[in-house]
Amino acid sequence: MSKRINVQYELPTHECQSWQEGDWLVFQCPHCAFLRKLNWRSNEMVTLNQGKPGTLHKGMHSPVSEKLAHQTASN
Ligand SMILES: [Zn+2]
Repeated sequence: MSKRINVQYELPTHECQSWQEGDWLVFQCPHCAFLRKLNWRSNEMVTLNQGKPGTLHKGMHSPVSEKLAHQTASN
């Protein structure tokens, strides 16, 4: 019933690893050279490396948020 057909965007997806460096969240792909930084204060996004062409890159914010919450709690 909920079958989705994404003909237009049938691209391979790479899940990125992310971590925090000061005001920046860094997303790096373990599968190619993709590298992106996101400033969580200003929402500025900088793509340092596009990585493999024709690939969707998915960043995971939740591990970073958990880490932040943990840091806040331990202070
Ligand atoms: Zn990639």
